[in-house]
Amino acid sequence: MSRSGQHAIAADVVFDGAVVHRDAAVVIDGATIAALVPRADLPAGLPVQRLPDGCWLAPGFIDVQVNGGGDVLFNDDPSPAGIRAIAAAHRRFGTTGLLPTLITDTPEKMKAALAAVDELMDDEPGVPGIHLEGPFLSPEKPGVHAVKHIRAPTPEDVAPLTASRKGVVLVTLAPECVPPGFIRQLTRAGVRVSLGHSMATYEQTRAAMQEGLTGFTHLFNAMRPLAARDPGPIAAALESSDAWFGMIADGVHVDPAMLRLALRGAAKPMLVTDAMPPVGGKRAGFSLYGEEIRVNDGKCLRHDGTLAGSMLDMATAVRNCVRMMDVPLETALRFASTHPAAFLRLDHRLGRLVRGCRADMVAIDAKDIATVRTWIAGKAAQLVH
Ligand SMILES: [Zn+2]
Repeated sequence: MSRSGQHAIAADVVFDGAVVHRDAAVVIDGATIAALVPRADLPAGLPVQRLPDGCWLAPGFIDVQVNGGGDVLFNDDPSPAGIRAIAAAHRRFGTTGLLPTLITDTPEKMKAALAAVDELMDDEPGVPGIHLEGPFLSPEKPGVHAVKHIRAPTPEDVAPLTASRKGVVLVTLAPECVPPGFIRQLTRAGVRVSLGHSMATYEQTRAAMQEGLTGFTHLFNAMRPLAARDPGPIAAALESSDAWFGMIADGVHVDPAMLRLALRGAAKPMLVTDAMPPVGGKRAGFSLYGEEIRVNDGKCLRHDGTLAGSMLDMATAVRNCVRMMDVPLETALRFASTHPAAFLRLDHRLGRLVRGCRADMVAIDAKDIATVRTWIAGKAAQLVH
């Protein structure tokens, strides 16, 4: 680092979230990006780190749905230490921002999860907020969520969700299971609301979008399917340019043909992992609600064969997006970072490599689409695989 505090990272390719720049460099000042310049224009005397040949420098991945990692399940350990362990496990795969995601659980667990993220906000830049997946879901589409904890909201639920917080709060809910006006109460307070685990009709989905719902959690999975005279939430999402949808590109949750179809719609895709503790961990299973979940053939399965989250990491999601869905690398990178940052309304400081944004970045070996290094708020971490 120079005396001015500035230094630069140079790469064969820098993708800024919108445009691909050949032979360029990002100038970093502390935690912030000061400039993106052609490498030839770097000022003399500025310390420059040159990435290996063939490397791309891109905005760090932002994963809005992470249940666990590094053998830790957020539901089991809703504490700052638990979240740090999860974030560290995912950072190896290029994730520089994630929302720890609480699966439907008791009110006490929700309280603990919200408090843990609040406590962490000041000194953990890699965790921009929290995702509460449930408990206001449809008992008809529980997936692996415990039906006994699924419930309708009460007036007492509004205050803790809408309290002023430093981080983002994202709530996945089934619009048909909450009273009219509930979604608006949340979105007016800045909560991001996403449809998931829902049997909402097309009309119910449109009404929820009128109240400010903008997200669709793991599109296709655990929701009313697309049908000729029953378009449901999938059609409502895909025809709207104001909608963002999460896709689990592991080749297991959704057939790649369905995802390719979704990419032809107007909505903005986001790569999510829906990751479970074995991602970046050492064990081949974990326990959820006291039940054993086994990893088998790249799937996390309950004893009855229900999918229980995924074994996916973000680097693999990007690679699958390119290879299974025929998407150019820069487009996949946008799905992994720029789109989720915009969905969370954090795109003024995350998801792009432009002046004024935070220096959250990932270096990628473009041939293998493997992550080689990350930076969060300008601080580097060498990745050990
Ligand atoms: Zn889910």
